[in-house]
Amino acid sequence: MNYLSILHEVFGYEQFRGPQQAIVEHVGAGGDALVLMPTGGGKSLCYQIPAIARQRAGLGITIVISPLIALMHDQVGALHEAGVSAAFLNSTLSGEEAYQVEQSLLRGDITLLYAAPERITTPRFLAQLASLFERGQLSLFAIDEAHCVSQWGHDFRPEYRALSVLHERFPGVPRMALTATADDLTRADILERLQLQEARAFISSFDRPNIRYTIVEKRDSTTQLLRFIEREHAGDAGIVYCQSRKKVEDIAQTLLDSGVNALPYHAGLEGRVRQSNQDRFLREEGIVMVATIAFGMGIDKPDVRFVAHLDMPKNIEGYYQETGRAGRDGLPANAWMCYGLQDVVNQRRMIDESPAEEAFKQVMRGKLEALLGLAEATDCRRTQLLAYFGELSQPCGNCDNCLQPPAVWDGSAAAQMLLSTIYRIHKLSGISFGAGQLMDIVRGKKTDKVAQHGHDTLSTFGVGADLSEIQLRGVLRQLLAMGAVMVDVQAFNTLVLTDKSRAVLKGDVAVRLRESVSLPAPRKGKMPVNTKPKAPIELDALALLRYADLKAWRAEIAREHNLPAYVIFHDATLAAIAERAPQSLQDLQGISGMGVKKLEAYAQEVLRVVAVA
Ligand code: ADP
Ligand code: ZN
Repeated sequence: MNYLSILHEVFGYEQFRGPQQAIVEHVGAGGDALVLMPTGGGKSLCYQIPAIARQRAGLGITIVISPLIALMHDQVGALHEAGVSAAFLNSTLSGEEAYQVEQSLLRGDITLLYAAPERITTPRFLAQLASLFERGQLSLFAIDEAHCVSQWGHDFRPEYRALSVLHERFPGVPRMALTATADDLTRADILERLQLQEARAFISSFDRPNIRYTIVEKRDSTTQLLRFIEREHAGDAGIVYCQSRKKVEDIAQTLLDSGVNALPYHAGLEGRVRQSNQDRFLREEGIVMVATIAFGMGIDKPDVRFVAHLDMPKNIEGYYQETGRAGRDGLPANAWMCYGLQDVVNQRRMIDESPAEEAFKQVMRGKLEALLGLAEATDCRRTQLLAYFGELSQPCGNCDNCLQPPAVWDGSAAAQMLLSTIYRIHKLSGISFGAGQLMDIVRGKKTDKVAQHGHDTLSTFGVGADLSEIQLRGVLRQLLAMGAVMVDVQAFNTLVLTDKSRAVLKGDVAVRLRESVSLPAPRKGKMPVNTKPKAPIELDALALLRYADLKAWRAEIAREHNLPAYVIFHDATLAAIAERAPQSLQDLQGISGMGVKKLEAYAQEVLRVVAVA
């Protein structure tokens, strides 16, 4: 079977990426597979190409299992654009539409069928699959977002557990599980829960070299975000993650007021509004989505130029998954996060107060600590991230710490001041206090609360008078990250010592800290909302005109087809056309993203648009 020719013909791509070819060959030949690939790595082709090849070989239909009902329409639309027969079954279809899909399924007219796990495991659907199976027309099961099967993943969905029925009911039908979540616990869980122990594992490098990682200390996060967008992303599409619904609303409004084309997205919005905001984000250009983590799973918009976190995620898996939504097209993108002491406290509280078992909470605390370690790191962020996923790498040259190595100061003495003060406070009256009181004592501020509790009599009162509050908070964050201090959420977020405090107090463990940097100055005036389209490659003035015209034309087609623009053509494809200034069909050959079907459907119009420009 010639998989490469399907890649050329159907998708218009020149070469397989990374392990795609090996995966496609293995699955195409009927093998089971576990595919771990970072977001944007190109997982879809890993099952789409075997599906097409196996359907052509008379082996029948591929079932794609995905939890992302809202996106199935666009995924199927993209396949139609490429000339592949596909359909989806989910709750957005009317009874009549669903019936039609089931009929074509049973007739074997479809190459790929997308459905949600809860649909797959209904008796009705299983009976239909059985009918295909008996006729040898059930070709492949592709289980997307397979980490949903694991409670260790960040997106556990119990319906996924029921998918083991596929193996039991339809033995011999190849199955593949795909995910961008790679930690060992999740991986082991996927193999066990889906009974894929015999499957061949394809594990890609998790590096996303085009993403630049930056983590800054939280001061005035709204202003920090605005400056970041102003300076680096005026007019770009991006996602801003916040923890609460209220904050999502506030930030979206602030961005709008500052001339950024922003929309809110969170679970509290009415379904219709949420869907419409998501559609606009996918279909229009240059929208900034301000969202809780409820947004983004499976969003495959390729030209998201930045992902910003205004609050810290739960763990590195979540952070990596969310930041991974930037730059799927391979062009430069930014992952920017600001975080502060309060984030640490909040996340700790959420874990401690959750009803989960203690063993589970322990795992979650460990994961949170790993993320704090990343945030406080003074060396390459990417090296740390990849190390977390078990990969060794050299400093990347494309993260904040590599580009501007932070000044580091030895915070050991300051750490000892804080720890011994926590100790003394408790010794004085048997009760503990929070971060604010601690700072005041160490810095020698005699507030009413300090006086009232006699904390000005402590021997450490004022020992850190020459340190700023920002510096001391940095030290405290680091101590929390190291586990040398704990926040007792049962007792008003007071600070308590741990087993690890002693080593720091004795000077056996050094505390190294990033020097705080000051906020950048604001730019004058409002942000331009409608900046000229930035082309993904360097284009001369005439080519830029052609590019702008092609984009306008694409927007029309996308509206007509009710699909996002990138499903018609990626920016990179339009830029390549604009650069080449094709005059004939011949000239359009070999442009990446121009499959046979698209050439057939759009070549004439593209030539016309280019000729006019
Ligand atoms: P994932 O699901 O792993 O996040 P996708 O399957 O959405 O990634 O692919 C990411 C992008 O890369 C898509 O826009 C896809 O068209 C593109 N892509 C995938 N494989 C190739 C390839 N071999 N050559 C060029 N582009 C590719
Ligand atoms: Zn780096």
